[in-house]
Amino acid sequence: MDIFSLSIEMLKKYRLCDNCLGRQFAQLLTSTSNKQRGKSIRYVCAMYVDTQKEFYDDNNNFTDFNFNNVKIKFSNEKKKCFLCFEIFTKVEEIAQNVLRILEGYEYNTYLVGVILKPEMIRNEEIFWEEFGTEFSERLKEELSREIGKKIHELTGKNVDFRNSDITILIDLRKNSITKNVRSLYVYGRYNKYKPMPQTKWVCSFCHGVGCDKCSYKGKKYDYSVEELIGDVLLRYSKGTGTSFHGAGREDVDALCYGWREFIIEIEEPKIRSLNLSEVEREINNRYKGYIEVRDLKVVDGKEVKRLKAKRDNKIYEAVVECEEELTKGDIEEINKIKDLVINQQTPKRVEHRRADKIRRRKIFYVKVLNHRDKEATLEIKAEAGTYIKEFVNGDEGRTRPSISSLIGKRCDVKELIVKGFEPEERQ
Ligand SMILES: [Zn+2]
Ligand SMILES: [Zn+2]
Repeated sequence: MDIFSLSIEMLKKYRLCDNCLGRQFAQLLTSTSNKQRGKSIRYVCAMYVDTQKEFYDDNNNFTDFNFNNVKIKFSNEKKKCFLCFEIFTKVEEIAQNVLRILEGYEYNTYLVGVILKPEMIRNEEIFWEEFGTEFSERLKEELSREIGKKIHELTGKNVDFRNSDITILIDLRKNSITKNVRSLYVYGRYNKYKPMPQTKWVCSFCHGVGCDKCSYKGKKYDYSVEELIGDVLLRYSKGTGTSFHGAGREDVDALCYGWREFIIEIEEPKIRSLNLSEVEREINNRYKGYIEVRDLKVVDGKEVKRLKAKRDNKIYEAVVECEEELTKGDIEEINKIKDLVINQQTPKRVEHRRADKIRRRKIFYVKVLNHRDKEATLEIKAEAGTYIKEFVNGDEGRTRPSISSLIGKRCDVKELIVKGFEPEERQ
């Protein structure tokens, strides 16, 4: 059947607005809108009706109800379109409501999604059952596109299908509009000069609610690397929360002088264009002596995965204390350590968070930097994932060999500093 006859049949049976009529032929003449398509088809159909004099009575009124339907836009009847219930007349109003919800949020790109009323979906199915054409488009698609176009008109911002700053969901069933603000990911490197956990350590007794064990703070430590950095970033971005992803982590009491990489995720930021050199300055001034950051930049969220997968070898400086005085022989023995493979069973102290198993790790070298009496300062280069404290003290035999077992004297780590990160060598 040709477009013309098909349209006449559609319009004789159902009331359709211009958008819904045009949408049945959406893939024809690509450079126009469904509304324009529908309007053109309706004009031609209406002109055709005017040639059918037998449908008029003496007073020039239609006698055929069905044909009256074809001319719907030329009559004053206030009935609704069978497919969209006249939703296209509300596009501007919906777009305005969306903008009200986005007020205060900085964004460059957006995406609009629509959930139709079940009656709309059902009617489209009924209609297509009868008049399905190969050129049609779904109501849902046109409606979200038209609202998107209107928002562009009103704001000058652009739709982005892949990675929009804000996603808007218009639910016609509930008559609601919700937004999803994409997180902002800030990459950087940090040094840590005072003992603190890397991420917020929620109190294990009250799970953050607050109890006498945690002095009603809800956390075990007053601050963490995450909170110090996040605090400033949240103030600048007006976000609602953060999550912190480090390229590995050091123990609470271990320090870091080697600029560990991190990505901090800011949830629901209102401001996306941050002056990161200003943020950096503020963090470094405010938390001088605690932490320091550098190289802050906004990155794609996918970078988190890359960072997490990183397995850099690490260089440590460890101050070690022995139960007895260190002899020349002990120092020589320690300095001899080179490319040593050790077996580490999951340390007792982390057993509750890590699977209990034996890991093979490589110690590239140990150098004694200086020593006096029972104390020595060591530089240790170790494979990613090595437990350094246990490599020194042997963890009651769970790490073999260890510095303690090699020299036959019990030693323990007094201070531990991560001095550097070296990418894993590829072979
Ligand atoms: Zn319609
Ligand atoms: Zn508590």
